[in-house]
Amino acid sequence: MWIPRRIQHCRVCGAPAAYRVPADDNRERAVCTHCGEIHYENPLNVVGTVPYFGERVLLCLRNIEPRRGKWTLPAGFMELGETTAQGAARETDEEAGAHFEIEGLFSVLSVPRVGQVHLFYRARLLNERFDPGPETQEARLFTEAEIPWDDIAFRTVRETLLRYFDDRRRGTYAVHTLDID
Ligand SMILES: [Zn+2]
Repeated sequence: MWIPRRIQHCRVCGAPAAYRVPADDNRERAVCTHCGEIHYENPLNVVGTVPYFGERVLLCLRNIEPRRGKWTLPAGFMELGETTAQGAARETDEEAGAHFEIEGLFSVLSVPRVGQVHLFYRARLLNERFDPGPETQEARLFTEAEIPWDDIAFRTVRETLLRYFDDRRRGTYAVHTLDID
């Protein structure tokens, strides 16, 4: 089993933390060597959209690492105090400056290797005007034939796009659940 070892110091008192299995637990946690605080780490949610305008889909050219210079769907880490759909809408606004209406949940992708769950909603674009934020070099629409498959930033984005165009051809949209190695 993959165990992250990200925490080196106690969040309460600042003393060094060590990974060990606490009493009454069954997996390693970062435990403070001074005050005994146990630091629980759980997967993070990444939320985003598949923004579409007619038969084309909006992609953003990343201006930040990782994968700077690669294309992605607008997505990012969910914030406290927002729903998954609100987070997906916020990321779409921040990264693309798009005008859109959020539609149904489209894909749920578990990525245990990095401790993340990615969720994408379909989003119907209201026009072709985009105003990308600093994280994006360029935002533009692609037909399926134009998608730069070799320059897609993340596997979760690639898998979501493949299923989106499949469903679009069929004329019906499902919720796709996938596990990414
Ligand atoms: Zn401590």
